[in-house]
Amino acid sequence: MGQKIQKIGLDVGEDRLATDLQKYQEKAIEMGATRAKIVRTDEIPVDDRVTMKCQIPICFGYGVGANCPPHTVKPAELRALLEKYQWAVFFVQEIPSAVVVRDKATIKERVAAYQDVYKIVNGIESAAFYDGHYLAFGFGAGSCRHTFCGQQEDCAVLKGTKCRFSLRSRPSMEAVGIDVYRMVASAGWDIYPIGSDAKPDDVPCGVLAGIVIVR
Ligand code: SF4
Repeated sequence: MGQKIQKIGLDVGEDRLATDLQKYQEKAIEMGATRAKIVRTDEIPVDDRVTMKCQIPICFGYGVGANCPPHTVKPAELRALLEKYQWAVFFVQEIPSAVVVRDKATIKERVAAYQDVYKIVNGIESAAFYDGHYLAFGFGAGSCRHTFCGQQEDCAVLKGTKCRFSLRSRPSMEAVGIDVYRMVASAGWDIYPIGSDAKPDDVPCGVLAGIVIVR
């Protein structure tokens, strides 16, 4: 930890909240994010068509992990939850295009890059929790089934036992219906559609994203 844990207060002043949000934005960069920004929760686009894309065409992560559709939070549930929050910290991490495209030769680097996104989400979420924003929660990128349990036969949660990585795994932004492409483009940042048959030379880089809903 290395920081004094704050007493829980009923209200947090605007100055204190602004300072904390700034701190989390900086923390994202310190932890390896390429870009980070503070966003209002009403700027987060939650669209049912995003999770429709988990099913059509069916994603390799669909139904095989507790943090992916149809098992995780639904877009309508997230929209209702976000109405109770005002501020979030959003970040992206650029990775080489050779790492992001689906190629068995780079699977180790790809898994490590996705794990890095979760580390940043976990770091900010934990800092927010200990600062007294105890209802903070975050989303990563991709599928925890492949990012954390790729060497396992199954998802432990779907078998009725506890998650092997409960403090690290989260749903991805896209798994709960957040339109990540739109959010990145709205921030003025670059992102490219990278499908199953994309080749490294087709795109300048890959972009992974994460978000922590703070308060
Ligand atoms: S056990 Fe593995 S696949 Fe299942 S929710 Fe946890 S991290 Fe994800």
